[in-house]
Amino acid sequence: MPRDAANLSGSPPVANPTDADRRHMRRALRLARAAAAIGETPVGAVVYDTATGAVLSEAANRREHDADPCAHAELMAIRAAAALTGDWRLNHCTLVVTLEPCPMCAGAIVNARVGRLVYGAADPKAGAVASLYEICTDSRLNHRVIVVAGVMAKSSATLLQEFFRARRGKVKPPKPRRGLAAPDQA
Ligand code: ZN
Repeated sequence: MPRDAANLSGSPPVANPTDADRRHMRRALRLARAAAAIGETPVGAVVYDTATGAVLSEAANRREHDADPCAHAELMAIRAAAALTGDWRLNHCTLVVTLEPCPMCAGAIVNARVGRLVYGAADPKAGAVASLYEICTDSRLNHRVIVVAGVMAKSSATLLQEFFRARRGKVKPPKPRRGLAAPDQA
């Protein structure tokens, strides 16, 4: 990754993926594929215990189905892992996600004190770990995350490209506005 070459002072501590990171990324990619099959933007996430490799939680993007702007895969996986362990601090955890987290999720990762973040494809339009911002490794914040970028990035990027290509091919019916009667029905 060019990221390694650009690892100047203040840049994130770049690490290599472990076997567990790759194994859980494959799991996250399966979750992303399942999300695509039900019309969600394909992003999947897994939280595992860094020491044991045991999975604590997993989630896929559910923004459309839940009509929830916060229902991103990594945010839901973080919340589930915290609920499971009974502790909001996830220093001992690794979050694996197929796409570079957005500003909201990167903020949640810092707030949850996630120990390690492993992600697949970079997101040049919304990525907040390296592409647009460096929230997870900003030395002004009170927690810094070990970041492993670009793990199985091609698989994740291909999945997203295929999803958006297929969606562009469809004519979307206009969405009825909830709670409001259409003018011709009023
Ligand atoms: Zn997000």
